[in-house]
Amino acid sequence: MDRLCVYCGSRSGDNPSFVAAADSFGRLVADRGLGLVYGGGDVGLMGAVADGALDAGGEVIGVIPEALFEREVAHAGLADLHVVDSMHTRKRRMADLADGFVALPGGFGTLEELVEMLTWAQLGFHADPCGLLNVAGYYDGLVSFFDAQVEAGFVEPAHRDLLIVTDDPADLLARFEAYDPPEIERVVDESEI
Ligand code: AMP
Repeated sequence: MDRLCVYCGSRSGDNPSFVAAADSFGRLVADRGLGLVYGGGDVGLMGAVADGALDAGGEVIGVIPEALFEREVAHAGLADLHVVDSMHTRKRRMADLADGFVALPGGFGTLEELVEMLTWAQLGFHADPCGLLNVAGYYDGLVSFFDAQVEAGFVEPAHRDLLIVTDDPADLLARFEAYDPPEIERVVDESEI
């Protein structure tokens, strides 16, 4: 693994431990010699994770749609900022640049981005690890819901297992580094859809 893509809130949330976790996760990623790919903003947890990685001397690549350049306050300290034409291009570019995907706490945008990477993994479009850093139990309800989706017969247990969930950043990175992707039947080629 060379670069990790981090999805996280464009807001900071109410619990100060969210910002602290984003900052220290950025530092950890850089300390491990991994590049950070993220949404390019200087707001909320996005800004915190980028600042953490930059402070620790890491490579940080931001990818931001032109339309959000001002709203999400494109980070002025990035050596590498990709300004793209749309949200779709942003997600595609972030996925192409990274070889692992992690969500820290965030809102709908964060969820959408992580779940899209999970759906691409279950279709066999990529074989990179996907994880949730469950800071302060923020994702407990979502993880229960994913398990309920398996119970209800909507999600294959093997697909549920594509998501690594932990509250420990070092454990998450260790599991990403050791990741051995499961055999996934590729039912359709990405270029066909
Ligand atoms: P949020 O978790 O809602 O604060 O959003 C986190 C990040 O996801 C922000 O940079 C949003 O601009 C971004 N985002 C929201 N919706 C989408 C989308 N459909 N595709 C790509 N990024 C998105």
